[in-house]
Amino acid sequence: MTEERLRLMAVHAHPDDESSKGAATTAMYAADGVDVLVVTCTGGERGDVLNPQYGTVEGGLEGMRAVRRREMAAAADALGVRQHWLGFVDSGLPEGDPLPPLPDGCFALVPLEDATAPLVEVIRDFKPHVITTYDPSGGYPHPDHVMCHRVSAEAFEAAGDPERYADRGEPWAPLKLYYNHGFSLARMRAVHDALVAAGRESPFGDWIDSREAREVPEREVTTHIPCSAFFPARDAALRAHATQIDPDGFFFAVPREVELAQWPTEEYELATSRVPVTLPESDLFAGIRAQDEAR
Ligand SMILES: [Zn+2]
Repeated sequence: MTEERLRLMAVHAHPDDESSKGAATTAMYAADGVDVLVVTCTGGERGDVLNPQYGTVEGGLEGMRAVRRREMAAAADALGVRQHWLGFVDSGLPEGDPLPPLPDGCFALVPLEDATAPLVEVIRDFKPHVITTYDPSGGYPHPDHVMCHRVSAEAFEAAGDPERYADRGEPWAPLKLYYNHGFSLARMRAVHDALVAAGRESPFGDWIDSREAREVPEREVTTHIPCSAFFPARDAALRAHATQIDPDGFFFAVPREVELAQWPTEEYELATSRVPVTLPESDLFAGIRAQDEAR
């Protein structure tokens, strides 16, 4: 269908999300010659320092934005991808009962059309064949993750329509839209059971219990990407986000050999396709590659 270089756009809410969701997939495609662009909606300004070994960040939102820009650049290098900021301000994760209101001007409060316009512009400029984002729940109850889904879905629909966002470049219709599903219950359970069977500690026990208790419906996984050769690149990208990722914490709590044996893939749900596909698949570009047309 296409002889030109393939292009993949991964849309994420905050710097570090590209390293914890689908990171090995993007590193693999980049190493394979695909042009990969990570788009980060917000600057992560309201993220807390989550790594107890890090110390503190001075300078309020501006100070945190500057630190996270440097971390993001190092993570993009580790993954071998390019990265673009949409420039919105982190909404923060509201906590308490009742929940406090979101801060003025934050990403989740921007009207949908205004929040989508710059993403449509990047899509029309970069011309991705495939876009990844989060499912409608955000995959994680952070207002910026839900908003990331909303702007990605809106931009996927609108970018190819010359009537919409007419001042934002020439229309381009991406062919496939995916949702990241790296933290499926099936994956956590497989890794958890293997750890318990080996008499080791699992980081997933409480998480599995709470997911089951809340009866969070499991989304459909349509696409398994075998990308374990790029787990080291993913780990390096995670470590680059030094304010966010504790090297002795959750993301590194599963021994790598257990992960390789139990779950050597990253998972996605094909949300929309404008090309014929056969599910399940093991390639985000299935149905798009030049040789697919000859079949
Ligand atoms: Zn996030």
